[in-house]
Amino acid sequence: MVWATGGRLLEDAAVLADGGRLAYVGVAETAPAADEEISGDWFLMPGVVDRHVHIALADPGAVLAGGVTAVRDLGWVPDDIFSLAEASESPSFEGPLVRAVGPIITCRDGYPSNRPWAPPGTAHEVTGADEAAAAARRALDRSGVPAVKVALNTDAGPTLTDEELLSVCQAAHEREAIVTAHVQGKGQTERAVGAGVDELAHAPWTERLSEDVLGGMAGRVRMVSTLDIHSYGKDTPELRTATDNVARFLGAGGTVTYGTDLGNGPIPPGIHVGEAFHLGNAGLSAEGILQALTFRPLAPGEPADVVGLAGNPLEDLAALGRVRFVMHLGRVARLD
Ligand SMILES: [Zn+2]
Repeated sequence: MVWATGGRLLEDAAVLADGGRLAYVGVAETAPAADEEISGDWFLMPGVVDRHVHIALADPGAVLAGGVTAVRDLGWVPDDIFSLAEASESPSFEGPLVRAVGPIITCRDGYPSNRPWAPPGTAHEVTGADEAAAAARRALDRSGVPAVKVALNTDAGPTLTDEELLSVCQAAHEREAIVTAHVQGKGQTERAVGAGVDELAHAPWTERLSEDVLGGMAGRVRMVSTLDIHSYGKDTPELRTATDNVARFLGAGGTVTYGTDLGNGPIPPGIHVGEAFHLGNAGLSAEGILQALTFRPLAPGEPADVVGLAGNPLEDLAALGRVRFVMHLGRVARLD
């Protein structure tokens, strides 16, 4: 069975990869002849995209074998992470495609400059609007950089001023890049949204956001879920607050994408079924969860990133944990 464009389910279906791209997605009967055939009783869906990872703290091979074919790294030492991102474009790379923002822009002594997980260079500390804009431009000078990250963590030190924040947003938007922000509570979310930030790198977890703020964000600012880092499978006040914010954001018409913050605590590599269940608890339908997990549909012309599951996750979400087949850029990365 294939979950194809527009959520259509095709029985007795086939996909054909050619040169790293999909050449055919449709019923098996009319599929063109292939040099090599692999068949299985699988639910085929696009490779999963994790929009919040720190891949240097994880095993890229295990991430890919677990069904995640692309990741977005939201903060690491620029020279290291950008060379890994470049290496990941090769079909022989043992891991997912890596897109990276490079360093996290913050103020002097701001988060994560003082965190044990963050090696020197992970934080780019700036003072003043000019330095803030220059930091954003420097990261975006590299090709393939999808976003600029800022940290507004008042629990871990001082934060960027409004002028510095605005300046990062303007510099990024001039290059048609987005700004993603680490925010935890209500006040910093409002500051970030007011300055023009395009995405929250986590669903805020320390305070309930107002309906006004959530309504103002919908359609303009999206959220990356990262719900399980507040619970690791347990029920916690932080998980409840974050889930409630996600639920009301979805209710206001907001967009939430799947991200795990892999590298932060015991988050498993590959598709994290626990995160999918949290999204379900926040009110997303099974179809909505598959959309949040993926980036592009299985369709001709799209990258040949395909995952085969033993089971239909639209009927039972736990099937997301039963990965049996992974193809990345047309190469078979897993076949059980
Ligand atoms: Zn993170």
